[in-house]
Amino acid sequence: MSLLYKIAGSSVRQLGRRNYAAVSHISATGPSFGLTEEQKQMQDMARKFAREEIIPVAAKYDKSGEYPWDIVKKAWSLGLMNNHIPQEFGGLGLDNFTTCLIAEELAYGCTGIMTALEASSLGQTPIILAANTEQKKKYLGRLIEEPLVAAYCVTEPGAGSDVAGIKTRAEKKGDEYVINGQKMWITNGGVANWYFVLARTNPDPKCPASKAFTGFIVERDTPGLTPGRKEMNMGQRASDTRGITFEDVRVPKENVLIGEGAGFKIAMGTFDKTRAPVAAGAVGLAQRCLDEALKYSLERKTFGVPIAYHQAVQFMLADMAIGVETGRLAYRMAAWEVDQGRRNSYYASIAKCHAADMANKIASDAVQIFGGNGFNTEYPVEKLMRDAKIYQIYEGTSQIQRLIISRNMFEAAKQSSQ
Ligand SMILES: Cc1cc2nc3c(=O)[nH]c(=O)nc-3n(C[C@H](O)[C@H](O)[C@H](O)COP(=O)(O)OP(=O)(O)OC[C@H]3O[C@@H](n4cnc5c(N)ncnc54)[C@H](O)[C@@H]3O)c2cc1C
Repeated sequence: MSLLYKIAGSSVRQLGRRNYAAVSHISATGPSFGLTEEQKQMQDMARKFAREEIIPVAAKYDKSGEYPWDIVKKAWSLGLMNNHIPQEFGGLGLDNFTTCLIAEELAYGCTGIMTALEASSLGQTPIILAANTEQKKKYLGRLIEEPLVAAYCVTEPGAGSDVAGIKTRAEKKGDEYVINGQKMWITNGGVANWYFVLARTNPDPKCPASKAFTGFIVERDTPGLTPGRKEMNMGQRASDTRGITFEDVRVPKENVLIGEGAGFKIAMGTFDKTRAPVAAGAVGLAQRCLDEALKYSLERKTFGVPIAYHQAVQFMLADMAIGVETGRLAYRMAAWEVDQGRRNSYYASIAKCHAADMANKIASDAVQIFGGNGFNTEYPVEKLMRDAKIYQIYEGTSQIQRLIISRNMFEAAKQSSQ
């Protein structure tokens, strides 16, 4: 019996028709995806920003791998960053749905630059979810006052999907915690002003994950904290990804989130808020692929007609449209669900997994439609295909999303059969 079946304490065969029906009623009331005037304005502003500020420089940043500070500063000044921060701490207090609309538009311009912006939201979310008023004022307020970014520091060289396997240790010494360990693949790792850091505080291997880890806010300039070299990744090269070493990094106890042992739930709960925006990013990339491929297919001629007139190409374009539209619906559903104040892990994982997989298929098909030109850096789809891959890896791989989806189904089925 596989791990998933054990989780539910049941087998797929035992679940039966009745239980699957229960799963489809996880959301009792239907969503409405009509946009408000405010949402349309934010969407338009982000669209304009992507077209005018991001697209013209995307290839330059992809080539240089330089961090796009000028874009970050402009996005910050327009309120395209930090807008989910509650109003009492200086943000716009936007809901998840609206932040997703913005994410899709920015990603259309360049997902490397969008990830640089989005990773700061990922770093902030544990603070929004779990920090006390003083911590929020200090660390969220700082990001509102100045164009600075945060980072989410959980993955390690030896543990990514298996978060409970992280080895970084935090030991309490007087009024401080001393952190030692090594983090890996941290987006904004070299440019963040502060980090959300997950570390093990209970050394007992038998201690459950839900009690063994603690979440900290750690200042970038704390002695002993050293970001490594900027990693040269396959795609999204404008984004800054690094390992970070913690060597006797002393953090005041005031920087603990909630309390000792609360970290794992905070780190995992964060994804309910951040996976829908990541899915929206993949949809933005896929829409860009579709637009580029459609335009090219109507201009490029073979056998005397535009290639769009060949049914094989038409069907590829139609499948791309199906992927984009369903991906968009899925992220909106996930965002809407969490905005209702409900746990949305099921929908967030569906949205993230579907958007990531379809964006990769669509990017590959866009390259196909461009033929030889698609394989060349002079045309936009080569970068889009490289950029797409990471969506199946970061914020939980596509396999991990499927694991979460199945787990949710099995739990719902188990509950409805009791
Ligand atoms: C560019 C980039 C940016 C990132 N940014 C951040 C960041 O800002 N902060 C942060 O903390 N982390 C970040 N990450 C880390 C990222 O979240 C992890 O790489 C990811 O979760 C996968 O972990 P891993 O690399 O250790 O792969 P592994 O966990 O070793 O997985 C390897 C393969 O095994 C599969 N696998 C593992 N376990 C299972 C299972 N139980 N069932 C089925 N398949 C399984 C995986 O799906 C994958 O295909 C980033 C990574 C990259 C590459």
